[in-house]
Amino acid sequence: MKKAFEKKYDALVRQINKYVQNGKKELLRKAFWFGFEAHKNQVRLSGVPYFEHCVEAANILAELKMDVTTIAAGLLHDVVEDTGVKLSEVRSEFGEDIAQLVDGVTKIADLKFKKLEIEKAENFRKLVLSMAKDIRVVMIKFADRLHNMRTLEYLPKKKQLLIAQETLDVYVPLAIRFGIASLGWQYEDLAIKFIDRKVYNFIDKKVAEKSSERMKRIEMMKESILEKMNKLNIPCKITGRAKRYSSIYRKMQEQNIPFEEVYDLLAVRIITEKKEDCYAAVGVVHTLFTPVADRFKDYIATPKSNGYQSLHTTVIGPNGRMLEVQIRTEAMDYTAEMGIAAHWQYKAKNTDKHLDDQLVWVREFLDWDKDNSDPSEFMKSFKFDLARDEIFVFTPQGRLINLPVNATPLDFAFAVHTEIGLKCIGAKVNSEVVPLYTTLHNGDEVEILTSSKPSIEEYWTSFVVTSRARTQINRWLRENRKLQYIKLGKEMLGNELAKHGIESKDIDTTLLEQHSGFTNLDTLWEALATHRISAEEITRRVFPKLYKSAKTTFFTKIPRILKKSSKNDIHEPYIVFHGDYPLVIVLSKCCMPIPGDKIVGFYREDKGVIAHRVKCKEIPKELSHNAQGMKVDWAEKIDKVFPVSIQVVGADRKHLLRDMVVAISKMDINVVGIHVEIQGIVAMCDITLEVGDVQQLKEVTQNISKIKGIQRVKRK
Ligand code: MN
Repeated sequence: MKKAFEKKYDALVRQINKYVQNGKKELLRKAFWFGFEAHKNQVRLSGVPYFEHCVEAANILAELKMDVTTIAAGLLHDVVEDTGVKLSEVRSEFGEDIAQLVDGVTKIADLKFKKLEIEKAENFRKLVLSMAKDIRVVMIKFADRLHNMRTLEYLPKKKQLLIAQETLDVYVPLAIRFGIASLGWQYEDLAIKFIDRKVYNFIDKKVAEKSSERMKRIEMMKESILEKMNKLNIPCKITGRAKRYSSIYRKMQEQNIPFEEVYDLLAVRIITEKKEDCYAAVGVVHTLFTPVADRFKDYIATPKSNGYQSLHTTVIGPNGRMLEVQIRTEAMDYTAEMGIAAHWQYKAKNTDKHLDDQLVWVREFLDWDKDNSDPSEFMKSFKFDLARDEIFVFTPQGRLINLPVNATPLDFAFAVHTEIGLKCIGAKVNSEVVPLYTTLHNGDEVEILTSSKPSIEEYWTSFVVTSRARTQINRWLRENRKLQYIKLGKEMLGNELAKHGIESKDIDTTLLEQHSGFTNLDTLWEALATHRISAEEITRRVFPKLYKSAKTTFFTKIPRILKKSSKNDIHEPYIVFHGDYPLVIVLSKCCMPIPGDKIVGFYREDKGVIAHRVKCKEIPKELSHNAQGMKVDWAEKIDKVFPVSIQVVGADRKHLLRDMVVAISKMDINVVGIHVEIQGIVAMCDITLEVGDVQQLKEVTQNISKIKGIQRVKRK
């Protein structure tokens, strides 16, 4: 057995030699064989010698490039707890430093079953306290936990779940907070394997199936980027990344999308030599592929709180597949993987400035602890602080829900359960009823009030922040809207047919499918309901004999619909649009378009489509809100009048106003507002009229101009 461990010892030394020049080799050797002797007669549940666990933990520490003292303590981390060796013995053999590290790790014991919650919290508190004293204790605990997770399958089921859950709850956020991404995703992948074995196996199988095809695609993208970078003489390395199981899992869960879609996301990382080259590389990527809007993130200029730096962008690659690209320098890449460990290296004491910054928040907890002895309280508040970019809120039953900053009660509702989100009608935060758009804060207790049926509102998507909530709301709206379209479309066709004495129930659907131009009836109802085709046109196509001349009116003409606007209107019927899913079309109040004006629509998720005159000064504002421009036109025939404001300037005289009103009224035009201002001998009148179109406005303007004393008439 000793021989096998001699090999393991050599391997460990080789790993350490890669980054330590003149380390304390004697200390390492002594610790190794001391540990070996102490654990000699113990085996792990897997049947291997116990000491193997300690060596593996030491290897993990060496991969994180920790100093030799920490690695030696890693080799000894279980001797006090699991063997007859006393702490005083460790102290006399290895000195105070190592003794304290071993003591620190020993105190953070593994979980036992009794009084689980208290134990868990107490354990956590100890972890934090030791961390504040010496961060190396946590690094050893990190390594210990990682190896335990790797060998978790040998433990009883119940214990597996317990440890995996604790890993997710504590170790994953802690590793992320310390910026050690390499640990974070390993914990998460392993934890998912034990918590949701079915899904894990599914992902595992799928990933294996597709890996060669996927690598081929990544290889192609890599080559085209590399070629261009070489031409520009920018040295770089490009690696294709396999998506972590945990990130596939999370995306499938949170966004509720199938494996194929998540997995289709390809990812590459470009490593450059210099910071400037990172920006040049983004330029290259964006010229080769179309960037996806709003997906560019510059974490180089503004690093994340854990020190992470990188450029992120998403582009559309060949065949329309999304490609996630991370661009950073070698040093940034190193920090991204190693986090706090990167700062730690070669430092005997916590002197590194970054390391110090990262530990401030830990130390604050030491002070805090003096006044609060309740360990579960402590754990709660520590968790809040861990998650700088996240908040933790609670259900009335005390269940912890993890949400991004700025989350609302609706996000909370959907996070708890889709059904609760869909039926949500109100919320109480800390027992007080609040609007659904209220921003939640750390520690809030949130109670969701529900109705028996779904009660989704369109505008909800304007304030929810989680993609889960947004996806669910949109899905429901889409399905529900489809029902509205069917109802409205059928009604519209029915009304048209009634004019010709045909009862709509007499029409068989195959006739519609064959002659309407729509083989899918749902599409037909939608086209009708959204006025993309008129009921008259459909009737004309299906019953051509009813009409003498067959005129095509697709996309250009809508039926005369004389109705008062009501809440249920999908959009104003005198506007024709060409896009999909127009929720609401309204005329902009700022420029008050009237028929004949050139108009353009701007679609905003929260407001629907707003039609502006193309000259409107407010258009840049729309664009600044990321509104999406879309083509809208006036319908051919419109039986409606529209408000329009004109400004009239003239020499003030008796009866001027009366003459104007008379001139307007003669044309059968309503005046809905007049505002007169006299400045000396000049009268300035703002008049709001209701006209049918631009032509009528022109006529009324001309008539007013003819009035004695009027100098200028202008549309506002
Ligand atoms: Mn251990």
